[in-house]
Amino acid sequence: MGRITLDKVTKSFGEVNVIPPLDLTINDGEFVVFVGPSGCGKSTLLRLIAGLEDVTSGQIRIDGEDATDMPPAKRGLAMVFQSYALYPHMSVRKNIAFPMKMAGMPQDEQNRRIEAAAKSLNLTDYLDRRPGQLSGGQRQRVAIGRAIVREPSAFLFDEPLSNLDAALRVNMRLEISELHNALKTTMIYVTHDQVEAMTMADKIVVLRAGNIEQVGSPLELYKTPRNEFVAGFIGSPK
Ligand code: ADP
Ligand code: MG
Repeated sequence: MGRITLDKVTKSFGEVNVIPPLDLTINDGEFVVFVGPSGCGKSTLLRLIAGLEDVTSGQIRIDGEDATDMPPAKRGLAMVFQSYALYPHMSVRKNIAFPMKMAGMPQDEQNRRIEAAAKSLNLTDYLDRRPGQLSGGQRQRVAIGRAIVREPSAFLFDEPLSNLDAALRVNMRLEISELHNALKTTMIYVTHDQVEAMTMADKIVVLRAGNIEQVGSPLELYKTPRNEFVAGFIGSPK
């Protein structure tokens, strides 16, 4: 579960082509990081995978199934946004429960999943608080908790740490890596931060103007960048 393939996927907004034909395979359980400068199409690519945008052409497959025209809720993926998108008037428990409630899941199963997510994210003591009573890092954990309880086949993160201060960012980076080790679920993680890419990824996808410049492990990209752009972005001495 969690294998995603893009076959000649393109995306245009009106006349403007943002993603030229792009092929990509994300393997089951992989931690894949999309990096590239602002405006290069990272969020668009993630939103295409999530189904929040329609592809202009090409095919997206999830676990062997054609998902190109599948609505987001059917894809079995969970997106974690940079802005957290929490409901301020609801408790942490209710925020985490929300997607399960919408899916009509039995209450005892909802409770079981909330307790498990809260435990793995150190939120057990905060379940009755509201988002406004939490720190930035705790809010980010709630957003992740809300994704975990859906037991998705892949997590999609769009610059989840960019609102946090530097120290907290390092902390959350480690927590997300630990979560990946524990769950072994596919994660696609968008960032413009080289350090995040180099320390978290199994596989880095370097994007420039919607094109894939290079795909490889952090070590491969560091040792054998294909061009100056990749070298510059990854920080290798070339
Ligand atoms: P990134 O996440 O890498 O910063 P985006 O995927 O947000 O880049 O944007 C890629 C390009 O697509 C940008 O030029 C942006 O202006 C354009 N774009 C993104 N969404 C839309 C939209 N809904 N309508 C028109 N242009 C868009
Ligand atoms: Mg973006």
